[in-house]
Amino acid sequence: MSAERKPVLDLDVSAARKDFPALHQEVHGKPLVYLDNAATTQKPTAVIDAIDRFYRLDCSNVHRGVHELSERATKAFEEARTSVKRFINARTEREIVFVRGTTEAINLVANSYGRSHLKAGDEILISALEHHSNIVPWQLLSDQVGTRLVAAPINDDAELMLEEFERRLGPNTALVAVAHVSNALGTVMPVQEIVRMAHDRNVPVLIDGAQAVSHLRVDVRELGCDFYAFSGHKVFGPTGIGILYGREDLLDRMPPYQGGGDMIRSVTFEKTTYNELPYKFEAGTPHIAGAIGLGAALDYLSRLGIDHVTDYERGLLAYGTELLESIRGLRLIGTAREKAAVLSFVLEGIHPHDVGTVLDRLGIAVRTGHHCAQPVMARFGVPATTRASLAFYNTKAELDALADGIRQVQQWFKL
Ligand code: PLP
Repeated sequence: MSAERKPVLDLDVSAARKDFPALHQEVHGKPLVYLDNAATTQKPTAVIDAIDRFYRLDCSNVHRGVHELSERATKAFEEARTSVKRFINARTEREIVFVRGTTEAINLVANSYGRSHLKAGDEILISALEHHSNIVPWQLLSDQVGTRLVAAPINDDAELMLEEFERRLGPNTALVAVAHVSNALGTVMPVQEIVRMAHDRNVPVLIDGAQAVSHLRVDVRELGCDFYAFSGHKVFGPTGIGILYGREDLLDRMPPYQGGGDMIRSVTFEKTTYNELPYKFEAGTPHIAGAIGLGAALDYLSRLGIDHVTDYERGLLAYGTELLESIRGLRLIGTAREKAAVLSFVLEGIHPHDVGTVLDRLGIAVRTGHHCAQPVMARFGVPATTRASLAFYNTKAELDALADGIRQVQQWFKL
């Protein structure tokens, strides 16, 4: 993290909460306590207004028309790309590909890079705490190409065992693909170390940043990663839009992922030549309003100050951890030293779905289930957890409400 960080108190949470209309409502007659931010985040008015403006005034297709509306739409769309570039400190807009989300970004790399650069017997090294979208695309590739998926283990605190990871970085490792932050348990992975170890062996690294961008400063140049994927909707932007960052020289050497309009330079029945980066990877009409909304979300977060967000959430996580640890019969799963604001837990004798249902009646939104990370649930011997995942707009009072709610769940089940 950068040395010039400002102090914690600069984040005015009650002012920031006013920017999020959805937070100010009652659910089942109780004030909403929204603690399901790892699934999706709420949207600030800056984002809602940007999308509203596009559809009310500027609605047109991009890169095609000479008329005023098309020019406005193209300008807003490309300015959004610049916002993304700035936010993750990429070198150029050519490295920023608009996709549907993290899932599509990883599938793009698996299909394009994987099929053109990997061969039978090559290994893809992941960690034991990946989301299904950083497992299944590699398994599909294995079926098609004959590559092999290798998972490095985690310890009882859900931290990556770095020596074990390094041991699996062998002569056959052709790609490393790891989460920056675990969605199910909150572990912040040692991505800098991972990149260093992999690059020492000339192995490229893809980072799944779906759960990182809303909590931590992400600087792809400092990380040195080759690919970085994230979803707009998890960083206060719209659904259906996301980003694949790829190093320009790598993207240049990769074939297109999908064919269609906008990704070509010229087409004849005999031969097609492809457009330049990043358009080579953006076939068809993109999610224009989504991209504009995502740009607005990242600009909003930048104005707030991502370092302030990180600091504030660290305090919130420490407070919530202490509160939950004081509840009899509650077991926290995921106790890594480096953790983002995720509280995943099981309650003795009560199924997580029952916990979630009772909490919902109290106005508290949490997620229950395997969180699309079944292997990590298996690692901890549980089929599911209840997960409270926080954002910078959550408060200690909301965590108090969660702890009270959990005690009510226990009373309800007379435990
Ligand atoms: N990777 C991680 C770590 C996630 O948490 C998620 C979503 O929960 C994804 C990937 C997939 O994101 P999306 O469904 O937005 O494509």
